[in-house]
Amino acid sequence: MEEELLFRLLFIGMYGIFATIRVYFRSQTLGRESEEERSLMDAPTIFLSIVIVGYFATIFIYLLLPDWIFWAHFDYSILIRWSGVVLGSLSIGLLVWTHRTLGRQYAARLEIQQDHKLIESGPYARVRHPMYVIFILFSLAVALISANWLILILAILIAIPFHWISQNEDQMLIGQFGDEYLDYMKRTGRFLPQIRRKD
Ligand code: SAH
Repeated sequence: MEEELLFRLLFIGMYGIFATIRVYFRSQTLGRESEEERSLMDAPTIFLSIVIVGYFATIFIYLLLPDWIFWAHFDYSILIRWSGVVLGSLSIGLLVWTHRTLGRQYAARLEIQQDHKLIESGPYARVRHPMYVIFILFSLAVALISANWLILILAILIAIPFHWISQNEDQMLIGQFGDEYLDYMKRTGRFLPQIRRKD
């Protein structure tokens, strides 16, 4: 099979699996009343929404009109493209683990549910925002598969607002759980596990 076509099919397959998992876990939250919701009109969320629209528009062009976007093709080793497949598969496994651990505490926006419990197990034992890390890793993985630098730049732009979104989320959870969350923050890293414990 032609190499470009193979990687395009891998790209579609990975996105298909990732999106199906997200839709499944999102569907579990439908019709649920939350106790507290944060506005989605803050600057990081608006920035993220705009970048995501540009990102998916680029992906549609990459998949449906590849000649239009071939100018952004990056000619690198096929091993880098395969490493994207490995990283993408790893992200999919981690996504399922994270969703199963967070359970009914999960929401597509910053919310506190009725009987919201603080989750400190599984990936949350070491890292406070594993799902955001997975989004970033997955978008980098598919960018590597695509070998398209426009998709890569947009994937990097997607990562930036998570810095503020995770800060807002920590503030909201401090408001809900107080010292329990502050203790949890001392034991964990925001995106990566702590190397040394903060005491
Ligand atoms: N930022 C987390 C969760 C994303 S889902 C991650 O990247 O994995 C967003 C929802 O998760 C928010 O509405 C928040 O209320 C909830 N949440 C985040 N961390 C939590 C935790 N440790 N325990 C319980 N709920 C949490």
